[in-house]
Amino acid sequence: MKTLIIEMIEPKRLGELVTVSREFCEKPDIVAVGSGQIPGSFAKAYQVEDTVASNLISDLASLILKEGYEIILLSASTLGSGIAAPLSIKLSAPVVSEVIGIKPELVVERPLYGGKAVATYKLKKMPAVLTIRRKYFEAADLQGFTESKLLGSDGKKVELITEREEKAEGIPLEDAEVIVSGGRGIGGAENFPILQTLADLFNGAVGASRGAVDEGWAKPTQQVGQTGKIVAPGVYFAVGISGASQHLAGIANAKCVVAINKDEEANIFKRARFGVVSDYKKIVPVLIETLKEE
Ligand code: FAD
Repeated sequence: MKTLIIEMIEPKRLGELVTVSREFCEKPDIVAVGSGQIPGSFAKAYQVEDTVASNLISDLASLILKEGYEIILLSASTLGSGIAAPLSIKLSAPVVSEVIGIKPELVVERPLYGGKAVATYKLKKMPAVLTIRRKYFEAADLQGFTESKLLGSDGKKVELITEREEKAEGIPLEDAEVIVSGGRGIGGAENFPILQTLADLFNGAVGASRGAVDEGWAKPTQQVGQTGKIVAPGVYFAVGISGASQHLAGIANAKCVVAINKDEEANIFKRARFGVVSDYKKIVPVLIETLKEE
C-alpha cells in the first residue's frame, strides 16, 4: 500500500515509523518536517521547513491526493497529533490515534481507558491517518540519507516569529529509562532539585503531575499524563502523586512503578509494584545516600 510518513527529522521517531510502515509497504515515502538531511532510505522524500502544523495541512492534503497515498503515518507527538486531526478533516479520512499494534488485514490497535483496555479497528477507507505511540515499535536502523525536494508552502496562515526551544535538561522524558516524577505532595518548586538528584543517579529524567505543573513548580514540558507526555520507562518513581486516572494514562506502559506517598489510601498504590507509605522527605534522601554508597 502506498504509505507516507510525516515526521520531524529525528532518527528514533523516524525509525519507529519506518518499522510500522513495513507492515504496509516495502519502502515508504516521507515528508520530513524541519531542516537537515533525511536519514534512511525512502522511495521519495519531500521536505517542509515550516514547523507550524496548521500551515502544512493544505500542502500535505494536496500531495496525498495527487500521489494517492493510502496510509499516512505520524508519531503521536505534539506535531504529529497537531497535523493528524486537521489533515483527516481536510481529506475526510479516518484517523486512529496512539496506535500501539498493527495486525494483518489493516487491523490496528490503540489503548482505551488509560491503557486498561485495547480497542481494535479495521481500516476500511483510504487514505487513513495513523498516529503511532512512541516506544511501542522498535526503531529501524536508518542507513544513509535520502535526497529530498521542497514541498511548496502556499497556505501560510500563521507566521512563526520566534522559536524558543524549551530545553528539557537531560534526556527527554519519552526516551528516559528511569523517571522521577513529583506531584503536589512535593510541597514547592524548591523541593524539586532532590528529585533531580535521584534521577541523575540513574541517568534519568524528572517529570511532574499536572498538580505540580499547575502550581508552577515544574514546566509544562515535564507533565506526564493524558494531557502531558505518554512515557514508557523501565522504572517510574511517583513521588507525592495521588494517582489520578489522567496521570495513570501517561504511565500505562511504565514497566515498574515505585510510589512514595504518605497516604496509604492513595490511588497510585494500585498501579505501583513497590510502594512506600511515608513522607517523601524521609525516604528520598535515604534512597539517594544508599544509591551513592553502591
Ligand atoms: P494531588 O491529587 O493533590 O495529590 C498529592 C499527593 O501527594 C496526595 O496523594 C498526598 O497524599 C501526597 N503527599 C502530600 N504530601 C506528601 C509528602 N510529604 N510525602 C509523600 N506524599 C505526600 N493530571 C496529570 O498528572 N497529568 C495529566 O495529563 C492530567 N490531565 C488532565 C486532564 C483533564 C481533562 C483533567 C480534568 C485533569 C487532568 N489531570 C492531569 C489532573 C488530575 O485529575 C489530578 O488533579 C492531578 O494529577 C493531581 O496531581 P497530584 O497527584 O500531584 O496532586
